[in-house]
Amino acid sequence: MNWLTNFVLPKIRGVVAKKAAPENLWQKCPGCEQMLFYREIEANLNVCRNCGHHLRISAELRLKITFDDGAFTRIELPKAITDPLRFRDRRRYADRLRESQAMFGSGADAVVVAHGRIGHFPCVVAAFEFGFMGGSMGIAAGEAVLAAAKLAVLQEAALIVVPASGGARMQEGALSLMQMPRTVIAVDMVKDAGLPYIVLLTDPTTGGVSASFAMLGDITLAEPGAVVGFAGARVIEETIHEKLPDGFQRAEYLVDHGMVDLVVPRAELRDTLGRIVGLLRDPAQSQAAGPLMQEVS
Ligand SMILES: [Zn+2]
Repeated sequence: MNWLTNFVLPKIRGVVAKKAAPENLWQKCPGCEQMLFYREIEANLNVCRNCGHHLRISAELRLKITFDDGAFTRIELPKAITDPLRFRDRRRYADRLRESQAMFGSGADAVVVAHGRIGHFPCVVAAFEFGFMGGSMGIAAGEAVLAAAKLAVLQEAALIVVPASGGARMQEGALSLMQMPRTVIAVDMVKDAGLPYIVLLTDPTTGGVSASFAMLGDITLAEPGAVVGFAGARVIEETIHEKLPDGFQRAEYLVDHGMVDLVVPRAELRDTLGRIVGLLRDPAQSQAAGPLMQEVS
């Protein structure tokens, strides 16, 4: 028995473990539950070929597929105060931050900012990294949106924000809630300068993020199937004791109810953004083109 368990079994395990595929080679589609091979989803912009489900993507990939030719320059963001409340729940907030920064780089937080061109027009993009503590908005994220707005004004560029966030970062308490008015003031700076401010809502955009700058775009786009709302559907259902309609809080539902202008498949994102920025920046072009978006008019 000992010989079997102590010697043979580890050997067998060793052989099997070596042959097993790494975890990230295959991924189950959350839409249709089909197993997707990573090369295939990568080649298709992380969209399921079977059901069209748009999987969540990193901020880095978002920037690549948004800017012309995938070319952009990331800017260094101002250093924000970390862990102002010395917060601790089951674990220390400082440890959680360190863990995420080990994945995304030291000094990183939930928002990255880059500038470049989209449809040949200068644009600044602030993209949320959902993988960084659920894309939660703390002081650093507020700082990043503010930096993006200032850069857009400086470069006379359009500002495009791509939220993917669970909301305010609770570990920063009231200071994270203060980022709501702060980011609203930031996008107001862009609007006051007469520059376009476009929001692309991605899955998920909820909580304090959906209750601030994310709902203030001159044009509001969304990715197919993205969940966008303030409180979660389950919480609402339990509060009002009513069954919610199908597709509640999904991008397509929000188009029908006037909160979103257009649902844009990822493959059409760059062209659509370029077209919209072009129409907003160049009035002559917009007169010739007629209505801004045929799908909506
Ligand atoms: Zn699928």
